[in-house]
Amino acid sequence: MGKSSKDKRDIFYRKAKEEGWRARSAYKLLQIDEAFNIFSGVQHAVDLCAAPGSWSQVLSRKLYLPAVRMGNPSPPTIVAVDLQPMAPIEGVIQLQGDITSEVTAKQVISHFHGRPADLVVCDGAPDVTGLHDLDEYVQAQLLLAALSIVCAVLRPGGTFVAKIFRGKDVVLLYSQLKMLFPEVYVAKPKSSRNSSVEAFVVCRRFDPPAGLAGPGGLQALLAGAQDRYLNDGDREAQLLVARAVPFLSCGDLSIGDADRTYDLDPETYVPLEPVQPPTAPNYKTAISMAKAGQQGRS
Ligand code: SAM
Repeated sequence: MGKSSKDKRDIFYRKAKEEGWRARSAYKLLQIDEAFNIFSGVQHAVDLCAAPGSWSQVLSRKLYLPAVRMGNPSPPTIVAVDLQPMAPIEGVIQLQGDITSEVTAKQVISHFHGRPADLVVCDGAPDVTGLHDLDEYVQAQLLLAALSIVCAVLRPGGTFVAKIFRGKDVVLLYSQLKMLFPEVYVAKPKSSRNSSVEAFVVCRRFDPPAGLAGPGGLQALLAGAQDRYLNDGDREAQLLVARAVPFLSCGDLSIGDADRTYDLDPETYVPLEPVQPPTAPNYKTAISMAKAGQQGRS
C-alpha cells in the first residue's frame, strides 16, 4: 500500500503525522480527556502498554511540559511501560517489561517513591488473532494485570482508563471494575473506528475495599465476581450491571470521521514520514534470523 492510500483511508493517521504524534491513538486519549477531564490535578501518572508512545506524548504535553514551562520545580512524574523499547519522550520515565509480571509492577511502584499515582492509563493490546472470544479473553487478562498495578499505585479517589473489547463477556469486566470504582463509564472516542469492538473504560474515584492490600486480595475479589457471573446465570443481574455503566461517545467530528475515506488534494498533499519509526520492528528480528539460517526453526 502506498503512503498516500493510508493517508486517504485514515484521517487520524495523517493528522497524527502533521501534529507530531507517534500514533493516531493519541486522539483517543485526547478525546477521552475532552469528555472526562482526566488530567485535572494529576501530579503522577502511569502509562501501561505505552509503545510507540503517543499516549505518553499526550501525558508529557498535557502534564509535564506545561509544569516545566511554568517553572514548577517538581513537575509531574510519568512512568511508561511496554514489552517493546520506546524512543525517549521528554519527562517520561520508560521501563521495558511485561505488565503481567510482578517484577514490572514493583519497578513501576519504585519510581513513585511512596507517593501514589493520580492516574493510570492502559492501551494494552495483545497480538489480535481474529478469534473474537480468544482476543476478548486475552485483552481482559491484560486489563486484570493492569488492575494489579492500579491497586498498588493508584491513590484512593484516582482515575483508571483502559482499553477493552466489547465482547459477550464484557459485563463480567464491568462488575469486576465496579468493585473497585464507584464510577465506571464506557467511552468510544470518535477517533476509534465504529467497525472496531474497541472501547475504553473510564473508572473514577478509586475506592479499594478492605482486605485488598493483603496477599491475594485482588485475585480473591475478582474471582468472587467471576464465580457469581458464571454460576448465577442471572441475566437480569448482569443486565443491571451493564445498565449501570453509562456509554459515552466522545470527541467531535471536527477533525474528521475515522470510518471515512477522504480525497487528498494533489495540489497541496505532501506525504509525511511517520513521527517515530518502530525501534525494534519484528521484520528486523526476522531478517537477522534469516541471516543466521534460523528461520522456521523452533
Ligand atoms: N498507547 C500506545 C500509543 O499511544 O502509542 C499504543 C499501545 S499499542 C495499541 C499496544 C501495546 O501493548 C503494544 O506496544 C504492546 O507491546 C503492548 N503490550 C501488550 N501486552 C503487553 C504486556 N503484557 N506488557 C507490556 N506491554 C504489552
